[in-house]
Amino acid sequence: MKDIWEDWKRYERLVARLMADQLSTELCVTPNASILGAITGIKRQIDVLIEARHDTDNSRRIIVDAKRRKRKIDVKDVETFRGMMEDVGATHGILVCPHGHTPAAEKRAQTAVSIRLLPLDRLEDFDPTTWPRCSRPRCKNGRVFWDGYPEVSLGLLALDGTPTRLAFVHSVGKCDRCGVFHVSCTTCRQILCIPEDDETNVGHQCPCRLPWFWLASIEKDERGAQSAELHLVMGHGKFRTVNRRSLTG
Ligand SMILES: [Zn+2]
Ligand SMILES: [Zn+2]
Repeated sequence: MKDIWEDWKRYERLVARLMADQLSTELCVTPNASILGAITGIKRQIDVLIEARHDTDNSRRIIVDAKRRKRKIDVKDVETFRGMMEDVGATHGILVCPHGHTPAAEKRAQTAVSIRLLPLDRLEDFDPTTWPRCSRPRCKNGRVFWDGYPEVSLGLLALDGTPTRLAFVHSVGKCDRCGVFHVSCTTCRQILCIPEDDETNVGHQCPCRLPWFWLASIEKDERGAQSAELHLVMGHGKFRTVNRRSLTG
């Protein structure tokens, strides 16, 4: 399968990676997100979407635009970006570029937009082709971007009766093309694909067969904004939302 990574695409993914590595674990990061604009009614492509990880909370959405280009960011770029922010309901925006910005662009940015510099040489040792391939059938050349590491600990009794706790760590993330959630179990190394639009709505489990499973769904907030969510479901109806991806503005 052809898998060509243009430099702009690698730049976008690098920005997503750096954001995910630096942000609080309370926030989740989606590369190449797609949100239906509340004003325009059309799908807007967002280089990096940052939002609340654990709750259906769309009140603090941040969008990032990675502008890999030869010139400086100007006033027009900031205005276009502010229009997009409004359409997708973002409270803050970050413009990332390799060559800085004009003084007027900074004035137009005000407090709603931050402009950050990321030089192109940072791309040198960055290789997203090492990320696992998306396992959704028919998804072409999608790669899984991990951004969360939920842990479950299990109380066990050793043979001599001593209570011990074992921790099970997972990676959670989504495909950078189709957005579908993935979970990787560090114990058995199996990667599960968890679609949110699965009619059967069955839980997914790795071969470890431990007392929890994974389920994805589409949720709505009080305004009617929709998001796809990945849940870690434990016994007694308890669950934890471990990843999200907004669908509408
Ligand atoms: Zn995919
Ligand atoms: Zn496992």
